[in-house]
Amino acid sequence: MTQSITIKASTTKINELKKYYQPHLGKTPPYAVFSAKIPGVTITAYQSGKVLFQGTNAEAEAKRWDQSATPKEKSTISSSTKSDALPKDFENWSIIGSDEVGNGSYLGPLVVCAAYATTEQLPLLKELGVKDSKMLNDVSIRKIAADLKLFLPYQQLIVKPEKYNQIQPVYNVVRMKVALHNQAIHLLQEKIKPAKPQGILIDQFTTEKNYRNYLKSEDHPVTDPLFFVTKGEQYHLAVAAASIISRATFLDELDQASKEVGFTIPSGAGVKSDQAAAKLLLKGGMPLLEKHAKLHFANTEKAKKIAKR
Ligand code: MG
Repeated sequence: MTQSITIKASTTKINELKKYYQPHLGKTPPYAVFSAKIPGVTITAYQSGKVLFQGTNAEAEAKRWDQSATPKEKSTISSSTKSDALPKDFENWSIIGSDEVGNGSYLGPLVVCAAYATTEQLPLLKELGVKDSKMLNDVSIRKIAADLKLFLPYQQLIVKPEKYNQIQPVYNVVRMKVALHNQAIHLLQEKIKPAKPQGILIDQFTTEKNYRNYLKSEDHPVTDPLFFVTKGEQYHLAVAAASIISRATFLDELDQASKEVGFTIPSGAGVKSDQAAAKLLLKGGMPLLEKHAKLHFANTEKAKKIAKR
């Protein structure tokens, strides 16, 4: 079975790995330091300090560097992580890309955005600094998003926590995301008519089969020409742009919420989020927490405990 394991490594350690795998180095993907292939495992080290081990022997190989390494998902997603899931020269196509932000953050909304970038616009996007939003700080994200909104066709959808908490128990997050991505893409297709994208790339969050299954219950299912790839922002600037626009919106929403309540509403799902949620509970009880938090996260119970102290 194909395994996919990520470990964190310092620059020194990554250099050590690179030296070790030197005889097996291959082509370096975007934002990677190196990529190497040995029997049963492909190893890719990213500038972000993450090292990805993929293949039937991934766990054993990852353990060589990090004893605590365990497979995170044995999903079919990893099989399409590679850019070879996409047609050759795909990065230069005119496409709609879609991505979401806020899914992993306890506080704040879920934002989905689809953006359309034509072949001719790609050099400009590059010039404006569009790339993987994980590699950009908040200031750059806001600046680039503002620039993009001036000329790039996009459609974003914001699901505030209050709404999210109504939908999530009925649907489930994956189905909700399918509906949102599909709706954003459909609306954007309408906006850009008569232009037609050569492809639609969704930053993959579930299997293609799952996605297409959930599509069947949508009013305007966009089924073609869909492509799915994880880390989609690395394979086309349209996805990177969609990601930047949605992240900027997410940041704005957190700022707005912070202003409303009078203290910082942080992103993420760590201790800081628990503490902020506890403050929300003390200030306005569950009605206030519901307005700002995705209640099904484990953080809710932690926040209740802190608030009781
Ligand atoms: Mg994504």
